[in-house]
Amino acid sequence: MRQLPEPLHSLMTATDTRSKSFRRVLRRWNEQFAFTSIKFNMDRRMSEMGTTFQMFQIHGALYHRQGPLVPGDGRDALYSQIYLYDPEFAAQARSRHAQELDADIISSLTLMLQETNPLIHIYLTARERLIEIAEAETSFRIILNPQLRLVVERGADLRRENLPTADEVSMILPEEYGSAGFRDIVLASRTNGDDQGNHFTLINPNHASYLPLHYVLLFPYGEPGWHWGRTLDNREGGHQKKNLSQRTFYRFRLHQRLDEPSTIFQAQKLFQQFVVDAWAVCDQNKLAWIRSHQANIRSDLYHGLADVMESEDIDLTRTGKRVVLPSSYLGGDRFMQQLYQDSIAIVRHFGKPSLFITFTANPKWVEIERELLPAQTAADRPDLVARVFNLKVRDLLDQIRYKEVFGPWLGWVWTIEYQKRGLPHLHLLVFLRTDHQFLTAGNIDSFISAELPPADDAINQELRGIIETTMVHTHCIAQNGSALCMQGLDPFIVQTCRKGYPRSFQEETIINEDGYPTYRRRYMGQAYTMSIRRGGADVTALIDNRRVVPYSPYLSLRYRAHINVEVCGSVKAVKYIHKYIYKGGDRATVIIESDQDEIKRYLHGRYISKNGPCV
Ligand SMILES: [Zn+2]
Repeated sequence: MRQLPEPLHSLMTATDTRSKSFRRVLRRWNEQFAFTSIKFNMDRRMSEMGTTFQMFQIHGALYHRQGPLVPGDGRDALYSQIYLYDPEFAAQARSRHAQELDADIISSLTLMLQETNPLIHIYLTARERLIEIAEAETSFRIILNPQLRLVVERGADLRRENLPTADEVSMILPEEYGSAGFRDIVLASRTNGDDQGNHFTLINPNHASYLPLHYVLLFPYGEPGWHWGRTLDNREGGHQKKNLSQRTFYRFRLHQRLDEPSTIFQAQKLFQQFVVDAWAVCDQNKLAWIRSHQANIRSDLYHGLADVMESEDIDLTRTGKRVVLPSSYLGGDRFMQQLYQDSIAIVRHFGKPSLFITFTANPKWVEIERELLPAQTAADRPDLVARVFNLKVRDLLDQIRYKEVFGPWLGWVWTIEYQKRGLPHLHLLVFLRTDHQFLTAGNIDSFISAELPPADDAINQELRGIIETTMVHTHCIAQNGSALCMQGLDPFIVQTCRKGYPRSFQEETIINEDGYPTYRRRYMGQAYTMSIRRGGADVTALIDNRRVVPYSPYLSLRYRAHINVEVCGSVKAVKYIHKYIYKGGDRATVIIESDQDEIKRYLHGRYISKNGPCV
């Protein structure tokens, strides 16, 4: 990737107010300059839940669309149509659509792109030819093929003719195998009886221009994205070429590099959208592969595991082709079912798990903060948050397995969840050797605390700070109705926290009949007061041991994050916890025409957040 042209470079990197506010609404800016529109359903559950860590989440499928080159009668020009105006007029049209955006910036970016973006010339040529051909022909299409060449297809026999394009436009892309033109982008078409051409065509995500046609402000030189012709360099100088997969391409792009500008990482919400887009197209490609290889998949399926979902699926009143989403597909129903079965088998083998650990990423980790670009916060960099969290999780697993910080390790079941909350978190069930399980109160106290530590020496002082910021349950103080733990409760009765905070004081840790311990939370202890903002006013709250979430002092000191460690009570708890872990991808209730088609069913219900793609 090349250095951005001015003034875009300054707007993307400078820390003055104008540039910062430009980046804050960069999605809006990019929309004004995009050739193609993007279509998805925004998932608004997060904003309803009032979390502060903002997420870009979508629901269902995601597409880029190309409209007709010329707007229909009486309609405003939009997207690529605007590029067919002369620059001054184009800038005015953009300002009319987005009056809240700075008109000077609009006009300077319009002029800049005129210089840098070869796609503009492709569109201009297409439009010229459209006008010429429309006089003579009744049925034709103008196409941008995967080699970035303009092609006219006309007549009943669809004869094809390459259009000459300016030199700077031609990029050397190999011919794709097969003759199918399914990746072509249709720029203009006229068929008999369809003069308006008002419909949209979908852009194939495997077309080299899929990215630059939409993310114009990230790829102002029209840099091609992933396509079938991409290969990996062989550093040893050998001749063997290896194809670069789409997923590998995006993974490469999602790393910052010293020898190229960090453009996409500066893009805030537009970066989040880019990440979600990348994940969605890789996923949609994989689903397309599964759809076209049903024969192989079915034979696998029916010779392999008994299909646990089968009985629910058969409905003889329905006919139609059955499409199967195999259990090897991550996140699908069968995958989740299989995981659930696997973990139940692990429990059968090891008996009850000893510990249940929940670990949430901390956006203030120094490893994240020191990598942030100027004027960024962790919310702008889901890639960093996910990577650092992944490293810490691996370290945590090492500590438990090899350092045996809770005793001899037998096994575990774990999952990382990205949904519903703004930050990734790990749920982990640990199985330890029986004689080391937490069967006595004394044993529990030596590993787990539910009290504020005294700040009596340097280490405890540090721990105290960590516990106060990460392990005190304060959401529901002063009857905070918008707190997650208070939501959905009957407003006419006295509200209590769903998680049971504040707990009662407890002189000694005891183990209850159901196997769950009640942790020691001694009266008053290290209580302190803090000021909390509620309903626009500051409320002074007394914090004591009743609001401390059980933690391991060792792990809290090591990871400086919310890390809840609880003793697992009984085998009865296992099912509940497994269901909690493997509750499956979140689904919306949707009505779809065929429930025989598992891919469609999955795609309809799919949620994608910016965090998911980063692992
Ligand atoms: Zn609460």
